[in-house]
Amino acid sequence: MTEATIFDKIINREIPATVIYEDDDVLAFNDINPQAPIHFLVIPKVQIRTANDINNDNAELVGKLYVAAAKIADEMGFADNGFRCVMNCNPDGGQTVYHIHLHVLAGKALGWPPYQETLKK
Ligand code: AMP
Repeated sequence: MTEATIFDKIINREIPATVIYEDDDVLAFNDINPQAPIHFLVIPKVQIRTANDINNDNAELVGKLYVAAAKIADEMGFADNGFRCVMNCNPDGGQTVYHIHLHVLAGKALGWPPYQETLKK
């Protein structure tokens, strides 16, 4: 049995979220702790715990996260300026909610690389 996460509660409307897009397969809502002027999450309605669980059986569904991101970017008018999609995986990746989600960040020129440490040994 897979442990439910807070995102199941958002899917089931048991807790509030600012939903910006929904279809049969995916839901998108604003991140509660935005890291850019525009920051929302696109999630599958069924739980996939981490990026390590992406496989040929769910590849089409995972692709739909990107389809939704591109559609929202077009509708919200930031597609041409650009945006960043991030999926964190497990502790070193910074994942805190174990239901995969595409972070979509936009609304300013985003720095790269996204971390401060140097790669010097
Ligand atoms: P990650 O650290 O990649 O697992 O990202 C989890 C994201 O979920 C974080 O950016 C949180 O700010 C966001 N988050 C957690 N709880 C909520 C919530 N109730 N509504 C919207 N975003 C949330």
